[in-house]
Amino acid sequence: MFINDLNDVISYLEFQKTKGLKYIQISDFILNQLFEDKSHRPLPFSQAKSLTAFQTNTSVNLTPSPIYKLSNNTSAPFIFNMDTTVNIKIDLTKNLSPEVKIKEMSELRNSILKCSQCPHLVHSRRNVVIGIGDDNSPLMFIGEAPGADEDAQGEPFVGRAGHVLTKIIAAMGLSREKVFIANILKCRPDTPGQTSGNRPPTPAEMKICFPWLAKQIEIVQPKVIVALGSTAVNGLLSQTTPISRLRGHFQTFHGIQVMPTFHPSYLLRNATNYKVKRNVWEDMLQVMEYLKLPISEKQKNYFLSKQ
Ligand code: URA
Repeated sequence: MFINDLNDVISYLEFQKTKGLKYIQISDFILNQLFEDKSHRPLPFSQAKSLTAFQTNTSVNLTPSPIYKLSNNTSAPFIFNMDTTVNIKIDLTKNLSPEVKIKEMSELRNSILKCSQCPHLVHSRRNVVIGIGDDNSPLMFIGEAPGADEDAQGEPFVGRAGHVLTKIIAAMGLSREKVFIANILKCRPDTPGQTSGNRPPTPAEMKICFPWLAKQIEIVQPKVIVALGSTAVNGLLSQTTPISRLRGHFQTFHGIQVMPTFHPSYLLRNATNYKVKRNVWEDMLQVMEYLKLPISEKQKNYFLSKQ
């Protein structure tokens, strides 16, 4: 089982219900996981108080996929506690040579490609989006999950939001090749019944996928991780504080400095809001300062005059 706290699932479903979710379909895979341990026989749905909140139809559809019928609102405000700092072991004490890193990354890549723990995503995805960049970089950017463009190209952050991230990295005097870019989820979250749009990863998907990211972090051993948006922050830090309050304040993940900041798609949605741009830029200035990267006067003042 991957779900450590049923309350997380319940609050997720209750939140989705407030957003208009009416039905939930459960795949054979999830159902088997839930019912695996016969000693904890679940209450019938009608008696399970916590489940009645979203139960609108007594029949449970056992079609393997899709799992969720989504509401139209697919923003990712759900916050839950992944306990990643407690459950995930990351050994950052090893002194890995670049050659060893290449070998370990390649083995990891092969293992990720073989992963089929989320059959619905294996079924719907076009590519696994593992991560890209310099295995030796002191700086890692972590996003939420691949979107349609990333799924098509097999590379993280190559769509519109990716374009914004690439510009941010360039403004820092770096390039995509000099940093490492990855996501909490390696497969694009499916959107059954919809021809477009994205949805945030579910807690179960994040929990299943997180060890892959943890291993990437263990290999790269970055000095700073930039967590892009609330899903990345929740995944890494088990934090329930809103991103708007957390951003700009260094946190730690297994001793690594983590800078939470707004997701590039939030910048896209607020394209004319220079305050938000400046916020993200100030977060990046802090990262640059920590990494002792050169900062010019021009860089210091980006977006200041436009606010
Ligand atoms: N948004 C993300 O969080 N990650 C990507 O790779 C693309 C868009």
